Amino acid sequence: MRLILFDIDGTLIHSDRIGRAAMARALTDVFGHCGAVDTVSFGGKTDWGLVHELMQAEGWSEVEVGARLPDFYARMAAAGQEMFTATNIRPCPGVLPLLAAVAARDNAVPALLTGNIQATAPLKLAAAGIDPGLFRVGAYGSDSAVRADLFAIALARAEAELGLQIAPRDVIIVGDTPGDIACARAGGGRVIAVATGPYPIATLQAHRPDYLFGDLTVTDAVLRALFDDQQV
Ligand SMILES: [Mg+2]
Repeated sequence: MRLILFDIDGTLIHSDRIGRAAMARALTDVFGHCGAVDTVSFGGKTDWGLVHELMQAEGWSEVEVGARLPDFYARMAAAGQEMFTATNIRPCPGVLPLLAAVAARDNAVPALLTGNIQATAPLKLAAAGIDPGLFRVGAYGSDSAVRADLFAIALARAEAELGLQIAPRDVIIVGDTPGDIACARAGGGRVIAVATGPYPIATLQAHRPDYLFGDLTVTDAVLRALFDDQQV
């Protein structure tokens, strides 16, 4: 059995910076300002970590930010409900046929490993025309400030909620940033990098993913990478 952990932003969907706009609104609602949300790098981080990074840079203490996180998550969900639509979120090339092919396999558990909070991940997917119910478990940006923690969380949930025994090497991340590659390494899993996010293919290559694609339109090649142990 293979646990396939899909990143969302830059991997499954493109969002025209609407995620930043939703975070800016939620931060302003909770903290009165949104800091450097327009310019900070989002790639490979988690929303929990980003809120701390942005607001501690504005002088809030770690304890003060932490105390406001539940309110931030609620505001973020409300902003996403209103702002994430089919006009500003679309699937990345090749994603819909790839997900259909993965869903048809009986030896794959499609799942999520994303920096988005649990409440907004399904909103983004649905806006892009991707059924959130396709993913049987997930680890989210509301589970840890540190993305590398999410590998073990996703694996533990797959085992606890689905009753499966999965070795770390049978876990494979599909992601678009060096943070996704580092997350896979932290957990002992493997990783397919795809250059549909902010990082060019040469940058991703330098972080030595197990597999690397320009995009996910090459369905058969991606399926071979997901289900074969042989390196390509
Ligand atoms: Mg991403």
